[in-house]
Amino acid sequence: MAPLSWQSDQADLMNGLGRGQDQDCFIEEQVRTDRLHQLFRQSFAAIFGSYIAAVMLCWLCWDRFDSQVILIWLVVLAGSSLLRVKMFVEWFRCPEAERTPRRWERRYWITLVLSAGIWGLGALAVMPTDDRLSQTLVMLFTVGMSVGAVSCYSAYRYMSLVSMGLVLLPCTLWLLVQPSSTQVGVAIAVLVFSTFVISATHKLSDALEKAFRLTRQMERAHTISTRAAQTDELTGLMNRRAFFDHAQVLYERCRHHQQPLCALMLDMDHFKAINDTYGHQAGDQVLRQIGGVITASFRQADVYGRLGGEEFAVLLPNTSLETARAIAEQLVKAIAGLACEPVHGLSASLGVAHTDAQDQDLHSLMNTADKALYRAKALGRNQVAVAAEQG
Ligand code: GH3
Ligand code: MG
Ligand code: MG
Repeated sequence: MAPLSWQSDQADLMNGLGRGQDQDCFIEEQVRTDRLHQLFRQSFAAIFGSYIAAVMLCWLCWDRFDSQVILIWLVVLAGSSLLRVKMFVEWFRCPEAERTPRRWERRYWITLVLSAGIWGLGALAVMPTDDRLSQTLVMLFTVGMSVGAVSCYSAYRYMSLVSMGLVLLPCTLWLLVQPSSTQVGVAIAVLVFSTFVISATHKLSDALEKAFRLTRQMERAHTISTRAAQTDELTGLMNRRAFFDHAQVLYERCRHHQQPLCALMLDMDHFKAINDTYGHQAGDQVLRQIGGVITASFRQADVYGRLGGEEFAVLLPNTSLETARAIAEQLVKAIAGLACEPVHGLSASLGVAHTDAQDQDLHSLMNTADKALYRAKALGRNQVAVAAEQG
């Protein structure tokens, strides 16, 4: 079913479509938000993964590491992990509209740098200076952690790189300055391995960003083409088809909630004469202005459109017949007061109808309003006729 928020959607769309540059900025902002969502989706497990990795490393090397250093490392790491858990809980509780890069990126960076830094420095602190086996095990775990960072933070390339650097570099740099060629060899191997990972990170992040951008661009193109098919080019109002689609939804909603619904049918008076006297372009200009008057006269909840030629229709939900008549009379006055050089003496006739037991469907409501419109014409034009007042 067609949504009812056509007018506000249209305004949003127009804002986004302003200029080419605005459109690009709008899509870039959406891509950035998509990346943030992806980051949160991907990295939740990383909090527990990094803590479990530290516990496993300490358990494997329990006899080889200093138990006091182990304890301090695990406690500090638990603190930083809890901070991250808290951030994730707040993220999941936060309304969708507030999950913006501006609000969350900085916070994420801080917790990431903190936990990766604690991991890397802690690994260096627990690593014994004279035990090759435990040094190899520590390096194995830091390399594993950095591979994990690539899979968890791929939406943000620099987060992957910073996290890798903070976890790997303390131990690797320390090994690099040791006198033993084996230790230096391990450090060089880790650095060479890291260059491959860095290049993979670059490609992965690029591919993800392109996928997000393409999806957003396709969504936008689809929205634009759908809107174009629903919009009357001359007035910017809904065209006949879109009007009836939206009107049907509104009709059913009002019926379901047992709310009153009124229909207005508007037809310009002697419009053929305007065209014949001032030309078709002047007639078009008048129709554009009528579109403006209609847009300015109704609420967002109302549904209105150009049915064709110089005929317009409006549906007013939750509106009594008396209010609808008053609104229609104001509209007649507003049109009569329009200055649309060189055209003078504009006027319109309106028919008003109300849902009642006899109205079986939307089309019979519109037909009743149409009959009232023709009564207004017959009574001399430039006026409102209400269907209920028919004899
Ligand atoms: P009445 O008061 O009985 O409604 O007379 P009318 O002349 O308005 O009615 P009629 O239906 O005979 O003429 C409608 C005219 O509206 C005919 C057509 O030239 C004109 N018209 C329809 N669509 C457009 C349009 O898109 N642009 C312009 N300029 N004129 C249009
Ligand atoms: Mg007419
Ligand atoms: Mg007509």
